[in-house]
Parts: sequence; C-alpha cells; structure tokens
Amino acid sequence: MKKIQMVDLKSQYDKIAATVNAGIQEVLDNTAYINGPQVHQFQKALEDYLGVKHVIPCANGTDALQIAMMGLGLQPGDEVITADFTFAATVEVIALLQLTPVLVDVDIDNMNISLEKIKAAITPKTKAIVPVHLFGRAANMDAIMELATAHNLFVIEDNAQAIGADFVSTNGTKAKVGTIGHVAATSFFPSKNLGCYGDGGAIFTNDDTLAHTIRGIVNHGMYERYHHDVVGVNSRLDSVQAAVLNAKLPFLNDYNSARRLAATKYNAALGSHPNIITPSFDANENDHVFHQYTLRIVDKDRNGLMQHLLNKGIPCAIYYPIPLHSQKAYVDVRYKEEDFPVTNQLVQEVISLPMHTELDDEQIQFITDSVLEFLNQ
Ligand SMILES: *Cc1c(COP(=O)(O)O)cnc(C)c1O
Repeated sequence: MKKIQMVDLKSQYDKIAATVNAGIQEVLDNTAYINGPQVHQFQKALEDYLGVKHVIPCANGTDALQIAMMGLGLQPGDEVITADFTFAATVEVIALLQLTPVLVDVDIDNMNISLEKIKAAITPKTKAIVPVHLFGRAANMDAIMELATAHNLFVIEDNAQAIGADFVSTNGTKAKVGTIGHVAATSFFPSKNLGCYGDGGAIFTNDDTLAHTIRGIVNHGMYERYHHDVVGVNSRLDSVQAAVLNAKLPFLNDYNSARRLAATKYNAALGSHPNIITPSFDANENDHVFHQYTLRIVDKDRNGLMQHLLNKGIPCAIYYPIPLHSQKAYVDVRYKEEDFPVTNQLVQEVISLPMHTELDDEQIQFITDSVLEFLNQ
C-alpha cells in the first residue's frame, strides 16, 4: 500500500509535472517574476471559472481577508460577526484592523456559523458578517444574505476552504461560493483545494467600485503610479505561483470530485456506526468539496482513536482543538461559555481523516478498518 498522507501533493504533482514545469520555465525565461502575464491569465481564468466579475490576486488568504475589510472601509470599533469554530486568520485580521470581533457559535449539523446566533449578536455597531465555508461546505448564503440586507450589513465570505463548491439557493439557482456576498477571500496555500507551491490568495467581488478600491489597496494604495491615495499594503501573487495555478485550475473540478468520491467511500464504511457521525452532503450537488473530511466521535475516546490511527501510520488531525473565544489573543469579557455549546462540543468530538485527491481504495479501506477496529474493541 502507498504510504498514507494527510495531503498527498507529490502524487498530484507527478500527474501534471510537465505542464507545471513548462509554466514555471516560462516565468524563468521571461523574468517577469512579479505581475507577469501568468498572473493576469490566472485572474481571467478564475473569473470565468467562478462566474464573478473581479478576481484580485494577492499574497495569501489572510491578506485577502484583511484587504477585503479595508476595501469595504470598515472603521475601528465596527463590529464584525464571525464563527467561533474556524481557523484563526478570520478573527485575527478583524482584530488587526482594530475592528471588534464578535464570535458566535456554529450549527451542530454542518459546523457552519449559526443564523440564530448571528441574529442575536447584531447591534447598532455591527457592520459585517464573515461566514466561513468550513471544511469545504457551503454556508447557508440565502439566509445570511437576507439577514445582511435587512440590517444593511456587508457579507465577506471566507472561501479559503471551499473553492469550487456551489451554493444551491432555495429557489434552485446555483452559484459558486465566494460570488454571493459583497466580497470574498480565498487562499491558495498548498494544501487548499486549489493550492499553489508557496503562498497565494485572492479577493473576489462583483462590485466594480470595490474592485477598483481593492486593486489600489493591494498595491500600496496607488491608483496612479507614485500617487498614494489611501493607506495600502503590498500583497501580490507572484508569477511562479500563478503559473502553478494556471496548470491546476483546469483540474479543480476533477480534484473536488475526487475528494467527494473519497468522502462517499468513507461515509459508506463509517456512516452506520453508532459512535460516528459522518459529514452529510448532497450526492447530486457540489455543495461540499471536502477540504477536510471531519467525523464526530460520540461517547468514545476521540483522543484514543487519534493515537490508535497515528500508531498505525495513519495521519489524522483535530481541526480545531480550541474554540477561538478561548484563545488568549481573543478572550473577551462579553463571551460566556454557555453562548458556545456547539463549538465547545465539537472541539471534543471532531477528528479529520486523510483527505486529498489521490486517495485509493486500499488506503481508504485500511483507514476505515482501523477506525472501526478501535471503536469496536
Ligand atoms: C487557510 C485559511 C485562511 C488563511 O489562508 P492563508 O493563505 O494561509 O493566509 C483563512 N481562513 C480559513 C478558513 C483558512 O482555512
């Protein structure tokens, strides 16, 4: 059996090596390392793929979130509501910009931000909501957009984990996640569903004015060369990374399908066990692109299971072990433990199994047998 990895980037690279190498060679030959033609080509290709008017590439997903918030003109003291159960980048940039993060609990069934908890957290100072499409599953954008419209709030989608996923509206229309809110941020960190070979990120929006503002912000606040109209940042996707992304974007749908197929096989093997809750998703819709495959282990020793898998050479991880409201950097007297029952429960129950585009049946069988072996002993 091929060695099991949490993410197998080498096997994925081997299949597209010729294209990737040729793309990188082209950058080396023409020496336009920054803002080369590869960056523009990627921007256009991603706009077409997503069906969004503007993609603005930048240096990483965390910058993308920060720049999106700067572009919207959020001011110190403005409250921004986001999920307690996610990667820290989201709350980090809110705090860095001296905005006020307001963490709220998530729903137990899909681990995404709870609409009821957002509603309860809205105050006259609230300016924006940041839903995270966690682990690759689309958050309920119908409900979030309706609530945002009613309260005149911006919606910034954190799409770092769900590029390529569709949100299927209750009226039947479909849109790629990251194209529904006012603005979205994504990451091309190597292990993300569309990853480059270093750092990379992008901001998406359908708003022409906002896109213009953001293009200046990523480039030192310049709209005209050496005229600095606003305080900006330096955040660029380099040409080598764009060349890698150009080689990989045509395969994004295949990559996401491979992840969904692996999830289907995991679910089939594990779904009926009384101590396991498998992630649910719609077999007919691209609503979940499985950045992570995350189980809940109920009434059994989750940490013992993790150790058992690691002992057998199966990598696994706890995403995320500590709620953001309990992180030293983000503690706040306003947070009460009873406001976060679901996140507090999830951090005890979740375990993520290997998930990538190259998992084969033999590996999946070995992983699921090993999970069941521990739970049945
Ligand atoms: C990865 C990630 C980010 C940050 O992306 P980087 O490119 O690593 O800066 C932000 N939010 C979420 C939910 C992520 O998973």
